[in-house]
Amino acid sequence: MRGGGGGGGNIQKLDDARSKFEQLLKQELSDPRVDTASHFILRLSYCQNEELRRWFLQQESALFQMRLERLSTQKLAQSVVSYAQLAPIDDDEKRSIQDKLQMMDMSGVEVAREVFYKVPFTQALDLVATRQVYVHQGYAYVAQSKVVTILTAKFRTELSRKLVLMASGGSFLSSKDPEASRIYPLLHNLHSCLVSSEPTPELAGGLSSAITAATVPQLAPNMPLCMRQLQSGLERDKKLKHGGRMQYGLFLKGAGLSLDEALTFFQRHFTAVTGEQFQKQYSYNIRHNYGKEGKRTNYTPYSCTRIILGTAPSAGDHHGCPYKHYDADHLSQLLQKLHVGTSQDRAAIVSLKKSNQFQLACQKHFEVMHPNIIDTNIPLDNVGNHPNAWFRASVAYHEHQQASDKH
Ligand code: SF4
Repeated sequence: MRGGGGGGGNIQKLDDARSKFEQLLKQELSDPRVDTASHFILRLSYCQNEELRRWFLQQESALFQMRLERLSTQKLAQSVVSYAQLAPIDDDEKRSIQDKLQMMDMSGVEVAREVFYKVPFTQALDLVATRQVYVHQGYAYVAQSKVVTILTAKFRTELSRKLVLMASGGSFLSSKDPEASRIYPLLHNLHSCLVSSEPTPELAGGLSSAITAATVPQLAPNMPLCMRQLQSGLERDKKLKHGGRMQYGLFLKGAGLSLDEALTFFQRHFTAVTGEQFQKQYSYNIRHNYGKEGKRTNYTPYSCTRIILGTAPSAGDHHGCPYKHYDADHLSQLLQKLHVGTSQDRAAIVSLKKSNQFQLACQKHFEVMHPNIIDTNIPLDNVGNHPNAWFRASVAYHEHQQASDKH
């Protein structure tokens, strides 16, 4: 009895400590300095090469634009003045060009209410190209509701320049300074890390029962497109090349497949080689992934960024991200073959791929395949960021559906 009471007290203490920690974490995260610090840490990591810079620019510009769009009219006006040093035109100037402003799909009342900025037209090329502004003597007259485009373009240009500068002065990342060498590996690999508030994939494959060599093929419909393609490539070719073995092997490890089961799974599928060849050529690599050979590093599954920015597959390879590495026609045919949604759904996914929004295309695929996901509490934070998150959420969704059907 006494032991039971002490255990209850310990649990209470643990709960208190956890809620205190969560409270502190919330306070920390609501501090804008944390946001600023993470932005600059990411700059250091993502300045390393052209493709990383492009990806980072796209994400940060989208975030910047989203934040501006959420500002009140008054705060947006302040931002325009302070960030772009643009002042609104006065009433006299506005009246003198009122009829011209009305030609931009605005009523007289709307023009009277709106604030306009006079901007060198070179800073508003997107708006000029789509005829959304009145241009006169080298200046574009931009309505406040459209000024977000200009601020975002300015942010993007400045960030791009700073990333290039940072990369060209990259001494920090290669410095022999002990402090720099301590954080260099972190910055160098940050783009391939999984950021998740969920338990690590190894501990939470998302399955209520353990994944085994026998159940992997049955689970293929729960996998994102990249992993489904690896599974079907493996079944077709009876083997996988190095890139595919790494990407799929680590994904399965993250999904909870144990080392023994991984060895059984790959040997069972690698029928294009003899058992002896498998032991000699492939089993070392699988044990290595599990940290049982070589440097005994605990390798983690690849994130979407790593797969998308990794080496493109060549003939006979099955690794990579289909949204990035397949052409639009190939992707469209594949989605149709897999019966993904309606033709409109598939067109929406392919259109995201065409505009280089590969991870959004993958998220859209997930939404289409899990139509009632909103009614569940399944965390979706990393769907489209990490293949294991896609898989985990998909498995949880189907288990949730099965449980609801029983009731
Ligand atoms: Fe796989 Fe990520 Fe590409 Fe989706 S976006 S197919 S999860 S690599």
